[in-house]
Amino acid sequence: MILIQTPAPCFAHGAVLRVDTATTVWSRCGIIESNKKAGGSLVVLHCLALQLFFCAMATKLKINDATKSKKATATKVSKKRVAKKVAKRSVKKVAKTTSPGSRAKHTTGQAKKTVKRLVKRVVKKPKATSGVTVVDRSELLKQHKPQPLGHLLVEQKLREAGFRGEVSSDPALLNEYSTDESIFAVRPQIILQPKSGKDVETAVRVLSAETKRFPSLSLTPRAAGTGLSGGSLTDSIVIDVAKHLASIHEIVDGANGVTFTCEPGVMWRDMERELKRYDAYIPSYPASKDICSIGGSIGNNAAGPDSLRYGHCADWVASLEVVLSDGHTYTIQPMSYKEYKALTKRDDAYARILKEVVALIEKNEALIQKAKPKTKKNTAGYALWHCINGTVADFKKGKAELDLTRLVAGSQGTIGIITKLTMRAQPVAHDTELIAIPVFNLADAGNVVVEALKHDPINVEVFDGLSFDLAMKNPEFFKDRLDGMQYYKVLLAMYTLYHVRWRRHTPEFTLLVTLDGKHAEKAALKDAVAAIKAAGGARARHITSPSEREMFWQVRRASYTLSKFQDETKRPAAFLEDMTVPPENLSKFFAEVKKLLKKFNVTAAVHGHGGNGHFHFYPLLDFTKQGVGDMVEKMSEAFFDTAVKYGGNICGEHNDGIARTPYLNKMFSKKELSLFAAVEHIFDPDDIFNPGKKVNPRFDIKDTLRRTN
Ligand SMILES: Cc1cc2nc3c(=O)[nH]c(=O)nc-3n(C[C@H](O)[C@H](O)[C@H](O)COP(=O)(O)OP(=O)(O)OC[C@H]3O[C@@H](n4cnc5c(N)ncnc54)[C@H](O)[C@@H]3O)c2cc1C
Repeated sequence: MILIQTPAPCFAHGAVLRVDTATTVWSRCGIIESNKKAGGSLVVLHCLALQLFFCAMATKLKINDATKSKKATATKVSKKRVAKKVAKRSVKKVAKTTSPGSRAKHTTGQAKKTVKRLVKRVVKKPKATSGVTVVDRSELLKQHKPQPLGHLLVEQKLREAGFRGEVSSDPALLNEYSTDESIFAVRPQIILQPKSGKDVETAVRVLSAETKRFPSLSLTPRAAGTGLSGGSLTDSIVIDVAKHLASIHEIVDGANGVTFTCEPGVMWRDMERELKRYDAYIPSYPASKDICSIGGSIGNNAAGPDSLRYGHCADWVASLEVVLSDGHTYTIQPMSYKEYKALTKRDDAYARILKEVVALIEKNEALIQKAKPKTKKNTAGYALWHCINGTVADFKKGKAELDLTRLVAGSQGTIGIITKLTMRAQPVAHDTELIAIPVFNLADAGNVVVEALKHDPINVEVFDGLSFDLAMKNPEFFKDRLDGMQYYKVLLAMYTLYHVRWRRHTPEFTLLVTLDGKHAEKAALKDAVAAIKAAGGARARHITSPSEREMFWQVRRASYTLSKFQDETKRPAAFLEDMTVPPENLSKFFAEVKKLLKKFNVTAAVHGHGGNGHFHFYPLLDFTKQGVGDMVEKMSEAFFDTAVKYGGNICGEHNDGIARTPYLNKMFSKKELSLFAAVEHIFDPDDIFNPGKKVNPRFDIKDTLRRTN
């Protein structure tokens, strides 16, 4: 082992780039250990070759800084020359610090190899596709390397640029950010916790510059981290918007209803509590509203029970403040053609993006309409089909608007980072009534849902027999959720239903239909129940008892958590949990899903949003066992094919993430996928935002799977 003084430019910024922080990055990669006793500035390098690499990179960066202005106009030849200079200097430097003779010769050879690699990277050429210039970073990312030096330097550069928030590579924190609620685990290298929108701008600007030298550097926004597709996981830098960016700015009760403005890290439950004072709520609320944030929900374009009538989060966005790839914040909101013309006269990133997106849509209008999923709910791909509420010709005639918030919502942080948002809220409906329909014969499910939809329900929710059985077997689970007497009343309602009404026979599914307004009036309710009975839901009932009503909703809301009680040595795995089919195809789809579950020999509790034909299947898998990766891949193939065969999609509300990005070709053609790649590139030419999600998949499902249940 050799002791060397760490190169000054890397560790110079004392308080900012503490050696213990910096060396953690290296030691995580098994490369170096810090010697804290020696004042923290000594580093033990295990291997000579890495010492050389370290010096070569540090020297190269010094040169790069000095030649920064020249670099902008540098040709391929001059870039090569710079890199070759680095080679020579690095070789000389290393030769000085190492022992003479054979070892020096050996290191010289390695230095040349290292520099050759650097030269290649510097002169990498951009590629052109579908009329848009696309730098092919996906190839680079496929041979992805952690590049700890790059990450190390980012810490330093951030401080120099005035980043005020926390920058950490503390192993415990990295562990915390290695998982979300998905089946994946990916360890990041640095966690940033910005204190303000300005900090986010700084981070983007620094990354934008550094990623040119270190292509594996990137920035992945994360809010509450409850996503089920692995959207907020990265092996590079996490930017946590929930820690400090969590202020509610204002709530306005105006002529057009209630709107609110807040930062992205505000928790949904907190916003909901504030809105209650205005008798309003955000109707696209996800079932996870107690644990997730507003910004993350826009990032995923989340949806929930009431989305049947009220749509996704994107439908409730009024405007977004987004830090784009140039590190500046822009207010993105719907605009007329006149406003578009005025805006595109500016010389900034947003103006360029607007022009290029409109040109892309105009050139591919028919293809985009063809790509639009047939299901009402969808978060797969970029929603290019929603950017203009008409044709481009309509837009130009002033008859339609352009709205790029439709692209940002649901983009999983791949095209910009939201730092502030304004959303609309909806008055709370107080006149709701519930119809519960046990479906004993699977073949009836589709018809019952289709009939229920004719009565304009707010929601049509569903849970399966397994969820109900699990609720009955685990009554103590509800003790924490219900107060005193209510707990006993709810349990009584549950057991009476099973023993008396259902005669100890659990239905395949239970559908819950909520009606309001004129449909909830007595006569209309009677008609609705009769019609649903005639459509196959023979035992449909209007639920009048508050305890029974509460019981049904308790089981529905708890169905995911209840599924964990099946077998505590296994995990209800979220990877088939977001398929959506048109409701009329539900029965056929389910029949096939049942066969597939049998074929793969797994059980899966099912619940979801029946009115949207949207079902969450959570197969029970043991992630500590060998072969689980193969199983996940084979099941994904088979189940996603089935959803698409019945006119459905693979991703209704939880978005693509690591789980579904590799399977988007099941829903979209090559040409359609290339449009998504092009739009991502328009926004993010250097691919700094959350790479590997939505386009250019690069996380291998098997390698990325978590190893614990
Ligand atoms: C039990 C359970 C039930 C769930 N039920 C539902 C449901 O009914 N409907 C539903 O849609 N989802 C559901 N989810 C998934 C998840 O909870 C939601 O999608 C939620 O809205 C995500 O919010 P979050 O704050 O956790 O975001 P995160 O998981 O932190 O982030 C989500 C995505 O948005 C990106 N992002 C985060 N912040 C920003 C930002 N500032 N700018 C740009 N991009 C950003 C992230 O990179 C990530 O890709 C459920 C999850 C669980 C565990």
